[in-house]
Amino acid sequence: MAWRCSGRTNADLIANMHAARIITADRVKEAMTKVDRANYVMRKSDAYEDSPQPIGHGATISAPHMHAHAIEHLLDFLGPGKRVLDVGSGSGYLCAVLHHLVPGGIVVGVDHIPKLVDWSVENLRKDGMSSALDKGEIVMVTGDGRKGYSDLALYDAIHVGAAAPTIPQQLIDQLKSPGRMFIPVGTFAQQIMQVDKDENGEVTKKDLMGVMYVPLTDAERQERGY
Ligand code: SAH
Repeated sequence: MAWRCSGRTNADLIANMHAARIITADRVKEAMTKVDRANYVMRKSDAYEDSPQPIGHGATISAPHMHAHAIEHLLDFLGPGKRVLDVGSGSGYLCAVLHHLVPGGIVVGVDHIPKLVDWSVENLRKDGMSSALDKGEIVMVTGDGRKGYSDLALYDAIHVGAAAPTIPQQLIDQLKSPGRMFIPVGTFAQQIMQVDKDENGEVTKKDLMGVMYVPLTDAERQERGY
């Protein structure tokens, strides 16, 4: 079902994911409708395909249904004034959607490929996010996302867009109490894990689904083709 949601337009794509119950919350539907995926892909003709697409440097923009799953799982921790970290921000697409879900809050995107960070900022500007960038409501930085981004920590929600061999402790440390992280974990066989930190700082982990993501790795290894 997940792969059958492709549409002719952005609105079509979102409507198909809603009909397939991949998007269930109206807030998610509204936020995803506001972000035109064509601004974040290299091949515009495939912008509304429900599939991952190469964006250069060994990276891909995730499939729309994976972005939708991620947001739906983090939704209880997204709202006015909330602070979110997107590790492996790639195209910048998810940062734009998250921005619409945290009015008055901050979205930090971190990627370790400087050219991708520059490109994501261009994409966000094309998508009407210049004022959010200029006001610091969206902050795009170059860095090793395995270390999180301590300058703006703590975060209500952390999304990781690349598969980590194990969950980086620094990301757990940068979660608020309460807070939630959505992270693919594993090398060959990968699972999305939901990591919850409760109000007392107690951490619990839950397997959500099997997936196939590019690895959370070193920049040099990624540019060499892993
Ligand atoms: N979610 C993004 C990109 C997914 S691809 C999108 O949909 O557009 C995974 C991204 O993780 C790539 O852009 C890659 O450069 C980045 N990445 C991999 N390892 C990283 C690391 N250690 N630190 C920061 N970014 C990393």
